[in-house]
Amino acid sequence: MAYDTQPPASHFINGAYVEDKAGTAIDVIYPATGKVIATVYAATPAIIEQALDAAKSAQKNWAAMSGTERGRILRRAADMIRARNHDLSVLETWDTGKPYQETSVADATSGADALEYFGGMAATLTGDHIQLGENWVYTRREPLGLCVGIGAWNYPTQIACWKGAPALACGNAMVFKPSETTPLCALKVAEILHEAGLPAGLYNVIQGMGEVGGALVTDPRVDKVSLTGSVPTGRTVYAAAAAGIKHVTMELGGKSPMIVFEDADIENAVSGAILGNFYSSGQVCSNGTRVFVHTAIKDAFLARLSARLGNAVIGDPMDPRTSFGPMVSKRQMEVVLGYIEKGKAEGARLVTGGTAVEGAGYFLRPTVFADVTDDMTIAREEIFGPVMAVLDFEDEAEVMARANDTEFGLAAGVFTRDLTRAHRVAAAFEAGTCFINSYNDAPVEAPFGGMKASGVGRENAAAAIAHYSQLKSVFVRMDDLEAPF
Ligand code: NDP
Repeated sequence: MAYDTQPPASHFINGAYVEDKAGTAIDVIYPATGKVIATVYAATPAIIEQALDAAKSAQKNWAAMSGTERGRILRRAADMIRARNHDLSVLETWDTGKPYQETSVADATSGADALEYFGGMAATLTGDHIQLGENWVYTRREPLGLCVGIGAWNYPTQIACWKGAPALACGNAMVFKPSETTPLCALKVAEILHEAGLPAGLYNVIQGMGEVGGALVTDPRVDKVSLTGSVPTGRTVYAAAAAGIKHVTMELGGKSPMIVFEDADIENAVSGAILGNFYSSGQVCSNGTRVFVHTAIKDAFLARLSARLGNAVIGDPMDPRTSFGPMVSKRQMEVVLGYIEKGKAEGARLVTGGTAVEGAGYFLRPTVFADVTDDMTIAREEIFGPVMAVLDFEDEAEVMARANDTEFGLAAGVFTRDLTRAHRVAAAFEAGTCFINSYNDAPVEAPFGGMKASGVGRENAAAAIAHYSQLKSVFVRMDDLEAPF
């Protein structure tokens, strides 16, 4: 499939591509072959300065435009992204290795949803009027100013849009740093936003490793930091932002539970377990990687799961029939293989998978461990790969305590036909995003985010507006003002 993977330059600043080869070279590797498909250069201090300066200078005029005008540009960008879905999906596949079967329905389309949703909402962002007798207060919803977005490598287009759309709708400017592993897609998002009419300087993309993110987070001009990444990175970035009393959104990792009760529809539960463990080769933050299955249906569940995993089509991600792609990088493949070895060493029973696929690329087989216990490493740590841990349970109270016994709180799911139990369990989950008889749906209309160590703040839905704007109260006195002397 002919597609130019080498971007015109590494960075997109002030409405144009900008290059500075003095930065560290970053090779972009196609995970399906291990071959270099592009090279970009990490931002130098001069590039970081250019991006922050452009964003700072452009923001005030953008905020002064009406919400309708701002929203129109975002909605135009959404339409352009949908019209170019094929090319953008191919690029997402080059960047991440995720199969085209997925990227064509889950990445650019999800980014377009965010731009359309927040584009529509931009004109509705108003304050309140609070009557106090004759006097009154009104509130103004104002932008934060300059927002920094830092992305993980699993959903580069989606993350660039999920952060950019609400930030721009509220009248902010953004400097976005993608993961060094997947630097290509955010540049396209910036290009399209500007083609759609976004004034120069409002959405800038600069490349680099953690230290570029660090330089952005500590800059005094930056008002807000939105990070998608692991909990350890979240701790570092949150602490750095706190030193400057900056606003934060932290979308971090998870080790989410999925509970399958004895009355569940087994076929649906198996579908949920597949979607919640093997989509994007398991590289999804909200995955339900601790699958608690009632002992009464455990054998039937594992039998159907193994049979259906046999239908996974592993191979060339550009082939629309492929349903399971490689890991994003050699490093990530090795991390996951390390966890598989730990699972075996600690006594979990390997049901299927557990090995890499011979040949080029970073392919692993979908892996299921059964008889996993709560104390095993594979039941406690986020693996971020296609490794499902199946744990036994018999009693609702017992399984709820075990499900919540984790530092994480990103997502959780329950499969049951019992209506009251489903809602009771959803209420008891210590997790920000829960599913009943489903898993990993992420519509833009629903708030998404974590509890406990999995994060702070929410993305998507009206909830995101609170994290990209601030309220100003204006007291208006209509009567005379009295003073003590
Ligand atoms: P990392 O935490 O390693 O990195 C996230 C981003 O932060 C990268 O762009 C990274 O740069 C950057 N970074 C690293 N150190 C610093 C620093 N000190 N200051 C500023 N920026 C820094 O995560 P991964 O990219 O490995 O992504 C996987 C993780 O992301 C998983 O834990 C996953 O659960 C989580 N995630 C959470 C989601 C959510 O919405 N809750 C969604 C998707 C993923 P670089 O890597 O280029 O060095």
